[in-house]
Amino acid sequence: MATVNDNYLKLKAGYLFPEIARRVNAFIEANPDAKVIRLGIGDVTEPLPEACRDAMIKAVEDMGDRNSFKGYGPEQGYAWLREKIAANDFQARGCDIDASEIFISDGSKCDCGNILDIFGDDNIIAVTDPVYPVYVDTNVMAGHTGDINEKGEYEGLVYLPVTAENNFTAEIPTQKVDLIYLCFPNNPTGATATKEHLQAWVDYARANGSIIFFDAAYEAFITDPSLPHSIYEIEGAKECAIEFRSFSKNAGFTGTRCALTVVPKNLIGKAKDGSNVELWKLWNRRQSTKFNGVSYIVQRGAEAVYSEEGKAQTRALIDFYMENAKIIREKLTEAGLAVYGGENAPYVWVKTPAGLTSWDFFDKLLQSCNVVGTPGSGFGAAGEGYFRISAFNSRDNVNEAMRRILDKFK
Ligand SMILES: *Cc1c(COP(=O)(O)O)cnc(C)c1O
Repeated sequence: MATVNDNYLKLKAGYLFPEIARRVNAFIEANPDAKVIRLGIGDVTEPLPEACRDAMIKAVEDMGDRNSFKGYGPEQGYAWLREKIAANDFQARGCDIDASEIFISDGSKCDCGNILDIFGDDNIIAVTDPVYPVYVDTNVMAGHTGDINEKGEYEGLVYLPVTAENNFTAEIPTQKVDLIYLCFPNNPTGATATKEHLQAWVDYARANGSIIFFDAAYEAFITDPSLPHSIYEIEGAKECAIEFRSFSKNAGFTGTRCALTVVPKNLIGKAKDGSNVELWKLWNRRQSTKFNGVSYIVQRGAEAVYSEEGKAQTRALIDFYMENAKIIREKLTEAGLAVYGGENAPYVWVKTPAGLTSWDFFDKLLQSCNVVGTPGSGFGAAGEGYFRISAFNSRDNVNEAMRRILDKFK
């Protein structure tokens, strides 16, 4: 009989979101009239910017004319999109990134997992705790870990706790690690990294021959001008970092699908025989073999993000969510809760009150306010005692949810 990839059996069976759904459904069944508000979602709620829609409509028309019809595009993405990204997202911020170092894809989630294809199986891997679960689960699937323990930690991974005690800033490891996942602004904590903090990581990576996977999915939510948007704003990062970006959160592309990964040309890894190998070549080979590019229509939609109208419309979208985040921060503070994040990120990270566990607080908020959030413990052991509230929602829902919380907690 065919055998399976046993590593999948080590995965904690999709615990967090199914468990949330189970508890919410049970509550609704018992309280059919309750108007439940979901502030647990990591998905955008507002419609696509008009500039992107117009560009995609035009692209559909292109596909209907044999003179402008497009078949397979370049596996790396169309040059016109890669050049706009290089100029606007990187060169305009002083980052020396060339269009040829940018690979267009259908999502950062896939890229974060797929990148492991070009790395060896013997690397020591570090993740922050709490963490975006994709980084951990893709390493489990690839056989890079042992079993999970009672605290929810996989044997073999290096966990770097981030809590209020260390200001949500992971300490640079004292041991040697080969691959490091960093996400700033952070999901789930909403924390950001200063240039000094990223410089410390880059210095560590260069000294140890490590590679940093930098997830910048939320860079557009940065409002503080002193904070870096890209790791390539940091001296030496081109020698040690791969950056992931996505149109999902800045332009509402979660259902449209377009993202990008930057692999600098001079980034190297070691082969078994000790020789240096250019990672760009391996990623290019990987993408050309296993991927056939993002739809022409979607890439035209993404390109429109860089037009004058597109820039204004995506800015307005982000401002809308950030106003939600501000309301959430203010009202929860007024309710006596300790809140973090939500200033340069669409997530507010709340300390659960009076020794309640993350799930206790989830139940309390659901029962007494009919508001759903995400228990911090679902993102890792060090997330216990915290709770994530998302700013991705309508203004009405945010206002109503905050009114109910103030009512019960103040
Ligand atoms: C939403 C999100 C992404 C984007 O994923 P896509 O597959 O591009 O939609 C990447 N990283 C994190 C941490 C996210 O929360």
